[in-house]
Amino acid sequence: MATNLFRNLPSVNELLESPPLKGMVAKVSHHVVVTRVRSFLDDLRSELQSAAAEVKLPDVRELAERIAARIMETDKPLLRPVINATGVLLHTGLGRAPLAEAALGEMAAVAQDYASVELDLVSGHRSQRVLAVEGLLSEATGAEAAAVFNNNAAATMLSLAALATGREVIVSRGQLIEIGGSYRLPEVMTVSGAVLREVGTTNKTRLEDYEQAIGDRTAALLLVHPSNYVVSGFVKSVPLADLVRLGRAKGLPVIHDVGSGALIDFARFGFSDEPVVSESVKQGADLVLFSGDKLLGGPQCGIAVGKRSLVEQLLRHPLARALRVDKLTLAALAATLRLYRDPEQAMQAVPLLHLLSTPLENLRLRAQRLAPQMADCRAIASADPLEDITYLGGGSLPTQKLATWCVALTPAEMSVDRLATRLRTGRPAVVGRVHENRLYLDLRTVFPRQDLDLVAAVRALADGEAL
Ligand SMILES: *Cc1c(COP(=O)(O)O)cnc(C)c1O
Repeated sequence: MATNLFRNLPSVNELLESPPLKGMVAKVSHHVVVTRVRSFLDDLRSELQSAAAEVKLPDVRELAERIAARIMETDKPLLRPVINATGVLLHTGLGRAPLAEAALGEMAAVAQDYASVELDLVSGHRSQRVLAVEGLLSEATGAEAAAVFNNNAAATMLSLAALATGREVIVSRGQLIEIGGSYRLPEVMTVSGAVLREVGTTNKTRLEDYEQAIGDRTAALLLVHPSNYVVSGFVKSVPLADLVRLGRAKGLPVIHDVGSGALIDFARFGFSDEPVVSESVKQGADLVLFSGDKLLGGPQCGIAVGKRSLVEQLLRHPLARALRVDKLTLAALAATLRLYRDPEQAMQAVPLLHLLSTPLENLRLRAQRLAPQMADCRAIASADPLEDITYLGGGSLPTQKLATWCVALTPAEMSVDRLATRLRTGRPAVVGRVHENRLYLDLRTVFPRQDLDLVAAVRALADGEAL
């Protein structure tokens, strides 16, 4: 009977005395190791109970090694750094924009100590947390007031709730966007308590359409930048300036959801049609909403800038507290915004802008240098440098191509999907893109400081199966 084996199971103490676990106690903690040993033994007992008669029990050392491996595995953080070799600069699955060094410094400083989050150090009186960034946001956008929330979805939801509950918000049918999965503008509108009043058609909306829909129940006019799609051909939409004129004439606020939040003109990277926040403010939008972790290149947050009276209405709403950001986000955002005071400095120091502005020639040289180093690995049949096209991602400028260089890997024996999995689960984790039976490692999104690690990750493939 399998249950006879129970008698042969080592005791907790025997296992703890075994070298693999003795070392573990020093590394993690006694409590953690004992807990894991107990649960391992429990699992083993139930396995034995349901197993056939002929089960051979591993020796103490082997059991201890298995437990140690399990502890190591569960001790690894599930959220860990990744080398983004997908070429997608704003990859939502990979956390969008990496932060500038200055942002890391300010975050660490306020993280480890208490901080002046809501205390004015001069007067000693209570202050508002937004003051940490409001001046910088005004400087960068020209707006008189600002507020920061969890993300742009939150900023939009709160704006609608605070300015339009129970009343109508007029939106063009061409702008009823969905941003990945759960964010669909009509649904956000419903949850906010505002009533969506659609006007125009998918491809054409005119100023008269807005004008005719305005009535007693109208609370605001909403213009949404279609960040992640393009309607082309027989199209017409109303420019912001015209909508602002209409809003002024009717005494209605115009809310502009610009989405990506470009603080500088991305035309310099060859990208057209991306609204610049300051331009939107200048044209008279009463409230401009955008993300902090898209083209701005900062931490995840949603920023609302505009007329002071409207921003204060947002801040007074009960949801504002539920959607507010913490000191880490404020510190990272403030540091990132400070870099924008000198646009050339921002170009170097904001990682997103730096990656975007890396000359193609630079990527070509790196691809040609790294490819032979990666080819020198048993698991790889060939590693070829090649020029390709990538996209910004994160729902920004979906049709605008960006030139790049990649190293395309052809595996020697394993499938290309297996190769992708091995690199994803390796150390460091590397995420590439599979294309026509090869794994492309796109250097547009790899920092030069990661080049050696990238080569090492590929060469480690020869070391047999990772965990
Ligand atoms: C990305 C985007 C959002 C959502 O922003 P999050 O910061 O991801 O919540 C909303 N509106 C537009 C136009 C966007 O591009």
